[in-house]
Amino acid sequence: MAKKLELVSLYEWGMFTEPRPSVVAGPCSAETEEQVMETAKGLKELGINVFRAGIWKPRTHPGCFEGIGVPGLKWMQRAKREYGLKIATEVASEKHVFECLKHGVDLVWIGARTTANPFLVQEIADALADTDIPVLVKNPVNPDIDLWIGALERLNNAGIKKLGVIHRGFSTVEKTKYRNDPQWQMAIELRSRYPELPFFVDPSHMAGSKDYILELSQRSLDLGFEGLMIESHCNPSVALSDAKQQLTPAELKDMLYNQITVRDADSDSKEWKENIDQLRAKIDILDESLLYTLSSRMKISRQIGEYKKNNNIAILQTSRWDSILAKVVSKGAEYGLPKEFIEDVFNAIHETSVEMQNEVISGKTSEQK
Ligand code: PEP
Ligand code: MN
Repeated sequence: MAKKLELVSLYEWGMFTEPRPSVVAGPCSAETEEQVMETAKGLKELGINVFRAGIWKPRTHPGCFEGIGVPGLKWMQRAKREYGLKIATEVASEKHVFECLKHGVDLVWIGARTTANPFLVQEIADALADTDIPVLVKNPVNPDIDLWIGALERLNNAGIKKLGVIHRGFSTVEKTKYRNDPQWQMAIELRSRYPELPFFVDPSHMAGSKDYILELSQRSLDLGFEGLMIESHCNPSVALSDAKQQLTPAELKDMLYNQITVRDADSDSKEWKENIDQLRAKIDILDESLLYTLSSRMKISRQIGEYKKNNNIAILQTSRWDSILAKVVSKGAEYGLPKEFIEDVFNAIHETSVEMQNEVISGKTSEQK
């Protein structure tokens, strides 16, 4: 059972206001004082309150731009002073935390490569103990939800309650159209385990190209996630890191105000309530009958198990399973159900069915009544 997290709601952090989305925006990296100031000004003008910039950059290859370091924090402090912005950056060590605290950073996040390392997460949590600074935890590079949750637990154990997450997608071996595979089911799983946990999506690192930022932002709002972290640079084509995925402040403005559809989390309208209640009641009935059907199927499966046992026949007959799968996939298509979905569902059914027959054959339990 997951440990409960003690959390302060996003809108009590003093930097984000409803309605959604809450946006953190700014360049991948702070590069020069002019670039920081010009980008910050553009973003402030479009209503952004929280300005991000990377100061220490975790790069795959040495020799790439590895961040400007402490001078960049001073430029961000200037942007904070002159434009009234809150400022945010990534920390990957205790030293980074101390520099951020010294330079008035208002929010820090832990990057994907760091979340994957419990030693570093613990070091950062210890350095942040007794501070009131909000912390956002990016998902680890590999799709491991427990590693992500473990990082949240370490921070929470250190007394950090202004805690949230950033979903930035996962590295995969197969090439997909996005730089990082969204694997939304992982985000949905985390949300359902911790419904109160503030949730940001980073469409910039997920996309890897500015062409997909709108669709990924829309998707995350449609799924009900309240925040977006988006990379924005005053002149993306000359950016020293992640040049392809950064929007200008003007492009970000157009996307946020003209292109994105923000949906309400709920509505008080009587008509909406009546209709949605009716539809949900239908779903509940169908779920009930799915459960009944599944349990009936498993009972028959156990009977087959008994029969195989009595006749000394092995459980697994792969050719039989292959033919069932082919049949349900083609029938499923007639009902408009995608092949992958049918395969997932029926493989899960088959797996449990084999387990149940195995119990029968090994004599662990007897057939259910
Ligand atoms: C970043 O936000 O600049 C960054 C390095 O992201 P990630 O940790 O998601 O790769
Ligand atoms: Mn970046």
